[in-house]
Amino acid sequence: MASLPNSVDAALRQRAARVVPGGMWGHLNAAKLPDGYPQFFARADGCRLWDVDGNAYVDLMCSWGPIVLGHHHPKVEEAVRRQAAAGSCMNGPGAVMVELAERLVATIAHADWAMFQKNGGDATTTCVTIARAGTGRRKVLVARGSYHGSAPWCSPSVVGVTAEDRAHILHFDYNDIASLEAAVDQAGADLAAIIVTAFRHDLARDQALPTAAFAARVRQLCNAADAALILDDVRAGFRIHSAGSWEPLGVRPDLSSWSKAIANGHPLAAVTGNDRFREAAAAVFVTGSFWCEASSMAASLATLEAMAEEGAIDRMTAMGQRLRDGLAQLSSASGVAIRQTGPVQMPMVLFDDDADFRKGELFCATALRHGAYLHPRHNMFLSAAHREADIDRVLAAAEKGFAAVRGAG
Ligand code: PMP
Repeated sequence: MASLPNSVDAALRQRAARVVPGGMWGHLNAAKLPDGYPQFFARADGCRLWDVDGNAYVDLMCSWGPIVLGHHHPKVEEAVRRQAAAGSCMNGPGAVMVELAERLVATIAHADWAMFQKNGGDATTTCVTIARAGTGRRKVLVARGSYHGSAPWCSPSVVGVTAEDRAHILHFDYNDIASLEAAVDQAGADLAAIIVTAFRHDLARDQALPTAAFAARVRQLCNAADAALILDDVRAGFRIHSAGSWEPLGVRPDLSSWSKAIANGHPLAAVTGNDRFREAAAAVFVTGSFWCEASSMAASLATLEAMAEEGAIDRMTAMGQRLRDGLAQLSSASGVAIRQTGPVQMPMVLFDDDADFRKGELFCATALRHGAYLHPRHNMFLSAAHREADIDRVLAAAEKGFAAVRGAG
């Protein structure tokens, strides 16, 4: 993505290019936003976002997931201020660690215990380490194309990664029971874990909910092998069901990874687990300089409370449905066909006959100029701060986007 010429954003990118390799790392490069998208932001409030050039957007990325109640939620920020004023990064955790673990154990159906980290990748990697410790085995089954973080065992890139880093990773296709069974056979007596995302939310691909049969089979196969079922709820966690995203399916994991929405934008991740893996979780060595930091834990407690008080999941679902219905209407009125997949609170919008994403990029770049921040190939996120009027602004911007795509076709 290139910024607009002569913008503050362009000047910052030029400076960044000299002192930051490639000017930016990771997903902001890999997920390829269209030209005109800003890289740098000045402020955010509720579901609004302002870039460094002063342009305002209704935000449908929610910081790639963490903002679940809206930016600057008063109760969350107050809890953070209070904890920070008392002390945050100390020689050990605050009492809030125990309160938060108790809260997660009470809220998350499969959880008998919880541990805390910083990023989603810390949590997924910790789950894999605990699964291997608890089973004494090595093989981990990962769905092809599922994202679990940037560590060498799971990075979507092979640059700087050795074959040995992946020596014990085997693949299957999400929702494909035959491929799952084949991978389990291949792992044989060395199967430590099957790790799955809450639903298929791969980049640049239609989303797919897990079938009941697939989820049940994952559980059965783990039971039969006494291996760990790891549910990676980093992206979907607290947007589908507060007790865990597979709770509506009646399938409980042994270990779950959480991050993103857990603390409404404050840096926190968690692993929850059942008693089968308690001893292993106590035995492994996992830690980080900031993993005890108390203010993000206070943020998490306040976030979980506010989500329950505000009925956040219901709100996101209602606003997501309004968006989906509105986009469907605009699509049929303009004659530009789209596919909307996955849960409405985590929308993915892809265009038919758009292998090179030219339509999606034109649509998003146009909507951006009209004040809506959308993504052409990554799933988007609703928050509990979105109101009808915000969705209607997004739809007004999307109407311009559809007109541009129709005009270009
Ligand atoms: N698992 C899933 C399902 C994710 O979506 C992500 C982040 N997009 C991660 C793990 C890694 O999280 P993080 O970027 O915080 O390390």
